[in-house]
Amino acid sequence: MSLVVQKFGGSSVATAERIMAAARRAIRAKQAGHQVIVVVSARGDTTDELIALAREITDQPPSREMDMLLATGEQVSIALMAMAIQSLGHPAISFTGAQIGIVTDSFHTKARIKNISTQRLRQALEEGNIVIVAGFQGVDENYNITTLGRGGSDTTAVALAAVMKHDPESPFTSVDCEIYTDVDGVYTTDPRIVPEARKIPAISYDEMLELASVGAGVMHSRSIEFAKKFHVPLQVRSSFSDVEGTWIVPENEWMRRYPVCGAAIVRDEARVSIIGVPDRPGISHRIFSAIADKNIVVDMIVQSVGSDGKADIGFTVLNNELQATLALLRPLAADLGARVTHEENVSKVSVVGAGMRSHTGVAECMFTALANENVNIKMITTSEIKISVLVDKADGVRALRAVHQAFRLHEPRPNGAEAHRKEEGTVLMPTAEPLSEERLERMANLNAMEDIVVSDVELDTSQGRITVFRAPDRPGICSRIFRGIADAGIVVDMIVQNLTEDGRGQLSFSVPHADLSRALEVTRQTMREIDPESYVTADADIARVHVSGVGMRTHTGVAKRMFGALAQRGINISMISTSEIRVGVVVALQHGPEALAALKEAFAVE
Ligand code: ADP
Ligand code: ASP
Ligand code: MG
Repeated sequence: MSLVVQKFGGSSVATAERIMAAARRAIRAKQAGHQVIVVVSARGDTTDELIALAREITDQPPSREMDMLLATGEQVSIALMAMAIQSLGHPAISFTGAQIGIVTDSFHTKARIKNISTQRLRQALEEGNIVIVAGFQGVDENYNITTLGRGGSDTTAVALAAVMKHDPESPFTSVDCEIYTDVDGVYTTDPRIVPEARKIPAISYDEMLELASVGAGVMHSRSIEFAKKFHVPLQVRSSFSDVEGTWIVPENEWMRRYPVCGAAIVRDEARVSIIGVPDRPGISHRIFSAIADKNIVVDMIVQSVGSDGKADIGFTVLNNELQATLALLRPLAADLGARVTHEENVSKVSVVGAGMRSHTGVAECMFTALANENVNIKMITTSEIKISVLVDKADGVRALRAVHQAFRLHEPRPNGAEAHRKEEGTVLMPTAEPLSEERLERMANLNAMEDIVVSDVELDTSQGRITVFRAPDRPGICSRIFRGIADAGIVVDMIVQNLTEDGRGQLSFSVPHADLSRALEVTRQTMREIDPESYVTADADIARVHVSGVGMRTHTGVAKRMFGALAQRGINISMISTSEIRVGVVVALQHGPEALAALKEAFAVE
């Protein structure tokens, strides 16, 4: 038996007409022989309006009551959708999140799903209904209504698909998940910001996870975590037409042909720096566990290479979490003899692509595009398949367009498109690696659904590090440095850059050992031409340890657990990189094996 989960976003249920259109779509799927679950969001801008309403009452609405309020938006939609389907002559029944047992933790306004019971859903389906479920909401163990964070209806839909696919009681042999929205698929970047953006026919889970986590609002990033973790293929498509949308599926060889598949922007970030923290083990742990305890998602963490026993730690948070972050950091910093500074009105621009793993010159291309637009880079972080830069908010959209253009994202990619076109009626479906027994077991008891899954901890001692100290703060510097490196044919891996207070920055990047002395020479040469006040060092004795999995960044506890395990063994961290799928730290070479062991133990990976 097959099941289709159809999710309709806010604009797809904004008016009575649209609700009727969505209802007809659900009925068509049912008539085609599938069982159907429909997940709906609040209508149109309802959620924004409810938030505004709360703000009219108080500046700081208590989060429990906020959830009580916000959940009403979806409740309106489910009732109307059930009426619509029934008026078209088909049985339907609506349920709130609580009614079908979507149990979450108690972090109001950004709760995570713990488990979903399928019993009531299955029964309603068996009785012949199209089942309508309110997206975005759940209930905690004390029956308080919770919500999953803005855009969270996607996560409800994919979680339901996952649970119906893997629950041993579930009768379904195939489960599909369709996300209906106001665009006809995932584009190379937000088409509302960059009109020349192009629709992507298919994209891998990892790429979509990274893109969503760096601002591609078309999907809630946590929904992609579920899709990846539980092997649910997704299709994002238009609720207004029958055009084939974008498939989100496991990674395929052809996806790696191009270095970059998409770009994204987060316009409202804030940068926080903690200046002059003691450069010794345990400091990152103290800082990031305090932040994690408040469930604040930090991003773009950079830690400068220490000098004079002091180091600076910088990171970004969403603007709306800045005050909470500062409030908890100030006393902590005072305790450490450090200072906290911050900067609002910064935007983060990122490029993502599975092909980045094997292509050279990606960083150079991005930095040159920014330099040509005279955009200054305030911070850089990279992961295996992502480069993010922080720029002035005023430069944000121009930077995004420049980067989109530089990677020729607007141009069709015939080979890629060919490769995943429908072949003999079968769409490029997951040629997923078979699930291990152990994973199947874990899924079978779908408890703790949204827990992090760490799949691997690796030690890499093949790289050395170049650090540029006191690099001047003006456009074009990174572009010149990485042009020199790219011209020398050297592959760069991890890059971090952070500006210090006096208008100078520190830039570090890793290169293979064999290229370290050449990279040093080339970079020294570049810096001599740019500014003799800066200086460059090379460090061969570093080890990198990576923890890979799903949801590494949005699970605020990952960094905490990771830094905690290292702190406990007295291992100092000298560089950090974070992404949705991998967190990496650099430690001294002699600590590599111990760091590996500590992290394997902390994440229970053999
Ligand atoms: P829904 O209410 O259906 O969930 P959203 O507003 O959450 O819809 O998501 C759809 C919107 O996401 C689009 O209208 C588009 O402006 C925006 N968007 C951002 N990045 C992208 C992207 N890379 N591809 C497509 N749409 C994007
Ligand atoms: N209505 C919620 C929001 O606007 C959830 C969603 O649309 O996915 O964020
Ligand atoms: Mg959405």
